[in-house]
Amino acid sequence: MMDDVGSIFPTLLPVDSKFKIYEGFINVKEDTFHVRIELPAGYQPGVSTLDGTILDGDHRLSLLLADCVDVISQRLSLSNTLSAFLVEFKHIVEHCLATSNTASEQALALPPKFFSKIVEEIGVIGWERLTFVDPSFSSLQLSAQDDAQRTHPITVHLHSNYPISAPRCTVDLPVAFDLRWSSKGGCLQEVYDQFTQALKLYQDFWNLMDEIDSNVWVLEPEKPNRSALLRRIAISSTASVQIEVDPVKPRSLPIMQLLGAAQAVAPLKEHLNRNLDQWDLYQSILDNLTVLLGVEFPSKATTKEEELFVACGICYTYRLNNATPVEACAYERCKQPFHQLCLYEWLRTLSTSRVSYNVIFGTCPYCSQPISVKTAS
Ligand SMILES: [Zn+2]
Ligand SMILES: [Zn+2]
Repeated sequence: MMDDVGSIFPTLLPVDSKFKIYEGFINVKEDTFHVRIELPAGYQPGVSTLDGTILDGDHRLSLLLADCVDVISQRLSLSNTLSAFLVEFKHIVEHCLATSNTASEQALALPPKFFSKIVEEIGVIGWERLTFVDPSFSSLQLSAQDDAQRTHPITVHLHSNYPISAPRCTVDLPVAFDLRWSSKGGCLQEVYDQFTQALKLYQDFWNLMDEIDSNVWVLEPEKPNRSALLRRIAISSTASVQIEVDPVKPRSLPIMQLLGAAQAVAPLKEHLNRNLDQWDLYQSILDNLTVLLGVEFPSKATTKEEELFVACGICYTYRLNNATPVEACAYERCKQPFHQLCLYEWLRTLSTSRVSYNVIFGTCPYCSQPISVKTAS
């Protein structure tokens, strides 16, 4: 007995004389898929179920039905004719097609008008300033040059109802960038203009920071970005000064902290405290620091990196989880630098060490002279 498969899928045909194997194409909605169905050996239409049927589809159909495998095998075990199963199978495929379409439509929910508007607005700014755009045009990156020819990127994230809702901007500025956006909407040119205006505010800050970065050895941050207010500058292999600069008033006295071996730091501190009033608002940060600390900073031109970047005497590395060796043995003939954590862990294991308040006292692993470190950083 042959099933009435033809009324459901006219192009799915039996390919063997026993009507056990069907192969061909099925049309669901606007789509066509290749299918091969092999019925179980003992199957008798209307008597036994289709449990054990092998159902193969083309790659696209397999992907589409990937989440419905259980439903399909359940339907097979409940159907006792192929046509009954195919009616249900068609519904399953229709359902899967409908849900996968909504998913892909959501990804491309932006109307064509949106694209043409963005393309036009980029044209106004200049395509040469566009450095990146994602395929859906929902985020794009523009670059601007400041007065000193430094390049600054701005990434603009556009909402689907742009320009009604303001775009979200990602920038590398020392102070938050607050985009002003009219309730009637705006355009990319306005974003770009506000960004280039903001760049003007920090020219002096960047000039001063660039002078530091290009002339002396900055220990931290390793690669300062344009928003970084901190710099730790090497004074010697055992001492450094960390400054935090006000980006709005970059020539004012920065927050300063001296780090390193007690012996090296003590005279610097004294010099600094005596000369704090020497800070001159008309001089650069670097020149002021030189005066206040009474030191000549080792310059990039004359000092080799390895003279300043001395590895920790315990773990033998310079950077350890972003920490650099800021502790050092105070004994003049040793001066061995250590990471705060390494030295703390080392002293903690020594039975001769003692703790007082939050300082642990012990001996230097190099020269056995007294050394101490704070227990909490
Ligand atoms: Zn270490
Ligand atoms: Zn030592």
